[in-house]
Amino acid sequence: MKYHIWTVGCQMNVADSRKLAAGLDRAGCTHTDAPEDADLVVLNTCSVREHAEDRAIGQLGRLKKLRSRGKDFRIAVMGCMVGIRDDDLRRRFPYVDVFARPQDFSPIMAVAGIDDTGGEFWPTTFGEPDAPTAFVPVIHGCDKFCTYCIVPYRRGREKSRTIADIKNEVEHYCARGVKEITLLGQTVEAYGHDLQPEILGTAPPDLGDLMRAIHETPGLERIRFLTSYPKDMTPRIVAAVAELPKVCENFNIPVQAGDDAVLARMRRGYTLAEYLEKFELVRSRIPAAAMVTDIIVGFCGETEAEFARTCELLERLRFDKVHVAAYSPRPGTIAHRTLADDVPADVKQHRLQTVEEIETRISTEINQRLLDTQQDVLVENRREGRWSGRNRLGKLIHFEGDAEVGQTVRVRIERATAWSLQGTALPATVPA
Ligand code: SAM
Ligand code: SF4
Repeated sequence: MKYHIWTVGCQMNVADSRKLAAGLDRAGCTHTDAPEDADLVVLNTCSVREHAEDRAIGQLGRLKKLRSRGKDFRIAVMGCMVGIRDDDLRRRFPYVDVFARPQDFSPIMAVAGIDDTGGEFWPTTFGEPDAPTAFVPVIHGCDKFCTYCIVPYRRGREKSRTIADIKNEVEHYCARGVKEITLLGQTVEAYGHDLQPEILGTAPPDLGDLMRAIHETPGLERIRFLTSYPKDMTPRIVAAVAELPKVCENFNIPVQAGDDAVLARMRRGYTLAEYLEKFELVRSRIPAAAMVTDIIVGFCGETEAEFARTCELLERLRFDKVHVAAYSPRPGTIAHRTLADDVPADVKQHRLQTVEEIETRISTEINQRLLDTQQDVLVENRREGRWSGRNRLGKLIHFEGDAEVGQTVRVRIERATAWSLQGTALPATVPA
């Protein structure tokens, strides 16, 4: 059986697709890049914003057309588009053979006619890496229920994997050439709170303990972690990042808005002052850390004054990078049920552009400070005649010169934009 997996959305979805592929490979199936050659096509979907859902729906339309031209294959839809009840999806897309919730691979195996679904199959099924970097989910789901967000309804409650399982996966990847692991969670600092402590009477493990547990894995050079939830970030976790040499000083801490009333309507669970406290905790302990954030503009009831406070925050904190999105109402969320989506589309668009302009200026200024410096780049790929990779801060760096995928190469930075840095590899600088 040949399978094809199409993936949109976050790093967690990328990791889920890889795991499903590993399971299908294990059952003797083979991957194909072309959906028209496949016996099973899986769409791994995202529904965080309407636009992501629209892309999956467009893809389904193409598959339906392919089927009507006589191609015989099964269609599976998995991921965040699929809720506990799938009656509505079944009605809208009757030609789909199976709907599977995020990480619920069993129905897909069943529709593929594979009798290999249970027990310890998935926790110990890992893909063959095809890059020097790999994503490793460490905590699934989310308990936070921010009013705008569909994730807790689709991915369920926070559930941590055991340190032993994660270590096993990290060792598997590093034995096959992976140098950098990104520990994933919607709220990665919540890791461990639902696990039993190893010794009765002590605290359960936290993200810092997990980082320490995998730190000495042979071959592992860098550890990253995504996404931080400000309230769950503790001095103990920040200390682990500061103390462990392989953990990269790169924090992704979504603030979402710079105004307390908006944060309260979003039910983010912190005030701006509390966010600033966490930001300062990181900056004071790790001054060189790269800071990345997420912003939603045009959330329900956002006034010009409230939006102006978000812009002020961006000017004040000077993030290395900002992921900005216009609020997209998601049916089933608290905001969709209880708050009016009353910021007009053109105002949302204008605010989005304003944030992008501020951030382009600030990111350019920050990146230009790296001109004429030397940066250690873990090489990820070669495209259009140049190498690409990232430094410890997570900055994308394109360069020319001698290198190999998987090496860490010292690069002299010659150009800098908001989005990337460019330079040339220094000769014979591959650190041992
Ligand atoms: N857990 C992280 C956090 O606390 O923000 C991020 C996970 S969330 C799935 C990824 C990003 O999608 C969020 O940071 C938010 O900016 C964006 N997002 C989520 N729901 C959204 C919505 N309804 N409209 C627009 N953006 C949204
Ligand atoms: Fe969504 Fe909030 Fe959970 Fe992030 S913390 S996944 S934004 S509910």
